[in-house]
Amino acid sequence: MSNLKLCQGPDCHTYHTQDRVKGIKGSKTNQTRRRSSFYYGGGNFCDQRCMYDWFRKFGDQAVNYFGRTTEPKHLIEENAWVKDYDYNGYRNLPDVHYFVNKVTRERRPLTKQQYDDDNYTLNT
Ligand SMILES: [Zn+2]
Repeated sequence: MSNLKLCQGPDCHTYHTQDRVKGIKGSKTNQTRRRSSFYYGGGNFCDQRCMYDWFRKFGDQAVNYFGRTTEPKHLIEENAWVKDYDYNGYRNLPDVHYFVNKVTRERRPLTKQQYDDDNYTLNT
C-alpha cells in the first residue's frame, strides 16, 4: 500500500468513478487515485484532467519558480543538436541512432546507450 503513488491532481478525489470509492463498507469515501505508476505528467497524474487541473492551479507559480522565458530563444548551429534514430525493426535490423544538427543537417553516430543517456549531449 505504501509503495503506491497518489495522483497529484488537486481535485482527483472529486471525480466520481468506481475505482475512487475506497474504505470499509458503511464508511466508503471517494478518494484520490493511488497506483504503482501513472502515465501522465512525468508519472504524477492519473489522467490528463488531473494534470491540467494541477497546471491551472499551480502552473504560473511553477513557471515563475523555475524561470520564466522572457526572451525568444534562437536556434543556431551551436544548440541545434538533437538525438534521433531510424527504426529498422521491420527489416529485422537494429535501429540506427545519431545526433542530427537541425541547422546544418550534419549527422554524427550514437550508440544506443548514448541515445538513452539524457545527460549525453553535443549542445554547449
Ligand atoms: Zn487524478
